[in-house]
Amino acid sequence: MPAAAPLPGVAPVPAAAPTSAAGSVVAHQQCLRHRREYRRRRAPVGRSLVESRPVNEIEQAIERNRNAGVSGLGEIPAPPRRKLAVVTCMDARIDAHRLLGLEPGDAHVIRNAGGVVTDDVIRSVAVSQRKLGTREVMVIQHTGCGMIGLSDDEFRSELEQETGVRPAWSAEGFRDLEQEVRQGVERLRRSPFLLHRDAIAGFVLELESGLLRRVV
Ligand SMILES: [Zn+2]
Repeated sequence: MPAAAPLPGVAPVPAAAPTSAAGSVVAHQQCLRHRREYRRRRAPVGRSLVESRPVNEIEQAIERNRNAGVSGLGEIPAPPRRKLAVVTCMDARIDAHRLLGLEPGDAHVIRNAGGVVTDDVIRSVAVSQRKLGTREVMVIQHTGCGMIGLSDDEFRSELEQETGVRPAWSAEGFRDLEQEVRQGVERLRRSPFLLHRDAIAGFVLELESGLLRRVV
């Protein structure tokens, strides 16, 4: 950081007023640079600008995005190349693309807590098939899932006690992993809203080996 940098919380003043059009552009660029620097320095690590609320991860994610070099995605056709939709859990350990050797543009990946086939998942699969041409569906749930053993009633009662409102939705916890996979596949196969129901398969992902075990 340069020694003459302005103090945090004090807006920097440009060194000289612009005297020509070219000077004005330079001054404007300097001003933008100063403003960026000002914003960066005003945001203490781990705190937001507005409240003392930690948002450091979001800021770091924005920074990583700038450096990620993922431009050009808009040139890839939106209809998935492999005509595949994958329903899986939001678990932070699961990288669906890496797991299945997929590239951007290959498949739809629909995720929620548990990888449970809810009405909203059916909505997404219906759009996937009817508007974007997918034909096959994989349902992938996994060992060590946080939704195993979560009681719908207890969870809803807990929220009701804490907030005074009982959620209209079900938590969709489950006890038997394989049974849940079978049920998810069955919900999809019975949905009248899907165009293609002949290639829907259900799997358990074993987190230890990283391998899929077909259930149905
Ligand atoms: Zn999970």
